Amino acid sequence: MSVETISDPRQMQQRMLAARREGQRIAFVPTMGYLHEGHLSLLREGRKRGDLLVLSIFVNPTQFGPSEDLDSYPRDLERDTQLATEAMVDVVYLPDNASMYPPGYGTWVEVDQSLTNTLCGRSRPGHFRGVTTVVAKLFQIVQPDVALFGSKDFQQLAVLRRMSEDLNFPIEIVGMPIVREADGLAMSSRNVYLDAEQRQRALSLHKGLQLARKLVAEGESGCRVLIEKVRELITQAAGAEIDYIQVCHEQTLADMVEVDRHAVMLLAVRFGKTRLIDNHHLMEEN
Ligand code: AMP
Repeated sequence: MSVETISDPRQMQQRMLAARREGQRIAFVPTMGYLHEGHLSLLREGRKRGDLLVLSIFVNPTQFGPSEDLDSYPRDLERDTQLATEAMVDVVYLPDNASMYPPGYGTWVEVDQSLTNTLCGRSRPGHFRGVTTVVAKLFQIVQPDVALFGSKDFQQLAVLRRMSEDLNFPIEIVGMPIVREADGLAMSSRNVYLDAEQRQRALSLHKGLQLARKLVAEGESGCRVLIEKVRELITQAAGAEIDYIQVCHEQTLADMVEVDRHAVMLLAVRFGKTRLIDNHHLMEEN
């Protein structure tokens, strides 16, 4: 039996309101589809935390810049539906652009620049405005009790926590660990863009993070030194164009000078047209 799918926002909202009236706890995992093990880990946790598990699949146009990969973003609805069924998702919400942004649409949700103008926000102007707007809309439509996000998109998680708190959404935001391939590459729908050589070179992100963690464990605490060492390592991977390497506070995302247990190293590196991100706390998390 296939999973229940709904595309109309009003119908979805009615379905969710009815579930809430019955006392069901709604767990929600928003995605752009082309599901992989990272998404499935969120669904597994969501399955535990809610009576009704909802997955949304929407390649949100407002979070893509004009020269970005909106049109070529990988899509495979048939496979996603199959995976959602196997993950025991109850409802898949599949809106289209016209229903999410009808003619005359004019409301935007924007989080303070201190969180959105740094890291990915610097090279992707308007990206987080698109993310917060669509997630705020999805929260209104799905009305979840709990929503699950991956910490692979570390800045996104920090921005969404801020939004949810500031706008008083009565929703528990859960951050989940990064799921990696066996060789350490963080799983991403965009990994399919990489050719074999780029795929190999892309390991430098994970290796860079491992190097930084090793140096910290050995006593190095200066963020500038760590960033330089990682820059050297990644630069050795031919064809790698570094967008940023930063060490930031996990909540404020402010650049740090000395490592402490709040320090996260965040990377964005381009291989050809493909931009990959990764991050890791620099000290052991407890
Ligand atoms: P996306 O479809 O790329 O927008 O991602 C949807 C959700 O899955 C976001 O909360 C991501 O952070 C999360 N996600 C993507 N990749 C991973 C991964 N490798 N590990 C854990 N979560 C992930």
